Amino acid sequence: MTHPAPTTTLDELRAALPADAVVTHPDRLLARAQDASATGPTGVPLAVVHPSSTIEVQAVARIAHRHGVPIVPQGALSGLAGGANAVDGALLMVFDRMAAVLRIDPVDQVAVVQPGVVTRDLAVAVAAQGLFYPPDPASDSWSTIGGNVATNAGGMRCVKYGVTRDFVRTLEVVLADGRVVRTSTPTVKAVAGYDLTGLVVGSEGTLAIVTEVTLGLLAAPGENQGICATFPTVRDALLASNEIIAGPHRPSTLELLDQVVLAAIVAHDPHAGLPVGARAMLLVLTDEHEQGAADVAAYQRIAHEHGALTVDVATDAVALEALLRARRSFHAAMRAIRGGSINEDVSVPRSRLPELLDRLEELSGRIGLPIGTGGHVGDGNLHPAIAYDPLDPVQVELAHRAHESILGLALELGGTVTGEHGIGLEKQGALDAELGPTVRELQRGLKAVFDPTGILNPGKKI
Ligand SMILES: Cc1cc2nc3c(=O)[nH]c(=O)nc-3n(C[C@H](O)[C@H](O)[C@H](O)COP(=O)(O)OP(=O)(O)OC[C@H]3O[C@@H](n4cnc5c(N)ncnc54)[C@H](O)[C@@H]3O)c2cc1C
Repeated sequence: MTHPAPTTTLDELRAALPADAVVTHPDRLLARAQDASATGPTGVPLAVVHPSSTIEVQAVARIAHRHGVPIVPQGALSGLAGGANAVDGALLMVFDRMAAVLRIDPVDQVAVVQPGVVTRDLAVAVAAQGLFYPPDPASDSWSTIGGNVATNAGGMRCVKYGVTRDFVRTLEVVLADGRVVRTSTPTVKAVAGYDLTGLVVGSEGTLAIVTEVTLGLLAAPGENQGICATFPTVRDALLASNEIIAGPHRPSTLELLDQVVLAAIVAHDPHAGLPVGARAMLLVLTDEHEQGAADVAAYQRIAHEHGALTVDVATDAVALEALLRARRSFHAAMRAIRGGSINEDVSVPRSRLPELLDRLEELSGRIGLPIGTGGHVGDGNLHPAIAYDPLDPVQVELAHRAHESILGLALELGGTVTGEHGIGLEKQGALDAELGPTVRELQRGLKAVFDPTGILNPGKKI
């Protein structure tokens, strides 16, 4: 029996991929339409495709390129900027069938993985071989390495180890027209030509589709230990944090939670074990092998010198994991206050943090909506979260205006509107102000070189 020649995009996709790898059921399309930001616009996609190999990704890209059909690469949809949201008529490319750790090499200290690997699964796999993959976004139990690479994800350990980009040695990518390239060699050092690896990292699926990632690893660190300290004012906590960063006892985690976030987490999870009532809390950890006890003693001393109300030393793995779990529940807890939240991701020079926090408190008082702030204070990267009732149009409007104000405030303080979550759809409006016309033009030029017909995740990132 002869098959009719494929005439449409879907026919061609079904001819190129296994039957169950091209899904058009409306429920399945809807389920993949939006990321965790849950606020941005979404389009109506054409299909969800589940490639099993680079060759299948390549086949999909060739078909999409020929027909001018957009492709939206998707990880676990844990993104907070609408970057993976559906676009009208698009193929949503999901990597659940490309989720293998292909190789862990203890001599070269690399892991070669497919994009669908869940971040924490990779960390566990390399730890079993005495190795360490440091980037740890708070979503690591479900976010994927492909998504982490495409957003250049950060996390709590970035204050010591750096962000995802610092661990990406090389990428295999499929270009918009279906060509497959490796962006560089996997060596520790590689400066031949421009740094395409660094360019694709953080490009939010707009320059290329990541099909394989070679990640640099480190030797396993020591056990975590540290302090959880509360302060009478946020300013005291900030001063203590700045002194810790400036000193010789570099922490592996340095997180701030303000009073609103602390109350939200405790209300969300009464067993969270966090102190209540304090204006601010610092969580300061070290993972040094030999020097851990000296680090903790230094953090204790600095906290007391800055007026800490309580300083609890945490060395027990179970207690530390409970603290980290409580910290990771930040977004969910803020959303639970009123049912909706906009989670910002501003990053400012550390010297401007006191002003940022003062102005956020003033903004919250002025609009009458809770704004809880916390996050990676050691990097100057905080997540003000505006809580609002999504069923109340007045609160929705106020929350969106507060969102704009916070982006403007970050720029006014010499910072960026996004330290780690990305631009996606949600922060497009801030790009002109942050980057200026010449950089914008250069960036559009780069996009045109990689994706001349604009099919890769159109409308996102730039
Ligand atoms: C509770 C919570 C906590 C979070 N904490 C952090 C944090 O600490 N640090 C942090 O940085 N982020 C954090 N995030 C945001 C989010 O988890 C990260 O941005 C993460 O990297 C997204 O991964 P993902 O697999 O879910 O990707 P998705 O959300 O599905 O996609 C994100 C972007 O990556 C692109 N993409 C996905 N796969 C590919 C691929 N193979 N090739 C090309 N492009 C691709 C998509 O098109 C999209 O632009 C948090 C989110 C939540 C909900």
